Amino acid sequence: MADNKGILYLCATPIGNLGDISNRCLEILNEVDIIAAEDTRRTLQLLNHFGISKPLTSYHEHNKKSKGEYIISLLLDGKNVAQVSDAGTPAISDPGEDLVRLAIENEIDVTSIPGPVAGINALILSGLSASRYAFEGFLSTNKRNRYEHLENIKNDTHTLIFYEAPHKLLTTLKDMQEYLGGERKIALARELTKLHEEIIRTTISGAIDLYSEKSPRGEYVLVIEGASDIRNDDGVFWQDMTVRKHVDAYINDGMTQKDAIKATAVDRNVPKRDIYAQYHEIGD
Ligand code: SAM
Repeated sequence: MADNKGILYLCATPIGNLGDISNRCLEILNEVDIIAAEDTRRTLQLLNHFGISKPLTSYHEHNKKSKGEYIISLLLDGKNVAQVSDAGTPAISDPGEDLVRLAIENEIDVTSIPGPVAGINALILSGLSASRYAFEGFLSTNKRNRYEHLENIKNDTHTLIFYEAPHKLLTTLKDMQEYLGGERKIALARELTKLHEEIIRTTISGAIDLYSEKSPRGEYVLVIEGASDIRNDDGVFWQDMTVRKHVDAYINDGMTQKDAIKATAVDRNVPKRDIYAQYHEIGD
């Protein structure tokens, strides 16, 4: 530990349920000299709830350059600083990473007080593969960047994790359908750790149908299955396969039999019932 410099603590706070704050986080918030908060008003509510009284300074996307320098000067002066975002873990789709970089450049010790991350909780609840995943954060509001992003990941075999605001959800799902395909499995995790927590497990096109009829409400994480290896071969992996093997390949890849039959029918451009009949009755 550097001798007379302070320590920067990255403190994770709850993403809904206040009971999720850790004892260590409360201890650190009580001990530090100052708390750098993304939204001081929101953090004040949190501190009041836990009876903590501490000086606060704002540190967010729009003041991070000047405030970053100020916070570093405090740390260099021996003050201990806790950084908190509005919810969850700092630096995860939130301000924090620039401050960490600055601290490292100034040889200031940085440590983390771990806690909730919406994306990880959505991933473990999704039922999709959690062994290899990619955190994609928010898609850009700039159409070109957004399409480029989706184009770049369409063949990624990792499970994909996105954050999205409710008012942009339907547009995002439609863009995902276009680039990733409507058949992909998706889990929409909303209001995690809150009273109305809900996990909707469906396909991208199923989610579009759902939210074309009712408005999305609350905060969402979208967890989407990665591109399967078999679909990476430009969709012609099945060329030399029997119908049965074609359907089984999808099933082995994690699809239900119903979805596998549907996907096979789409690939071969024939009615689903023909595939169904061949798979169940005639066989190959
Ligand atoms: N730093 C946070 C974390 O560790 O997850 C993420 C902050 S990011 C600005 C906010 C986004 O996280 C929301 O738009 C939503 O996508 C997701 N999020 C945060 N809390 C959530 C919750 N309780 N349920 C579902 N998604 C949540």
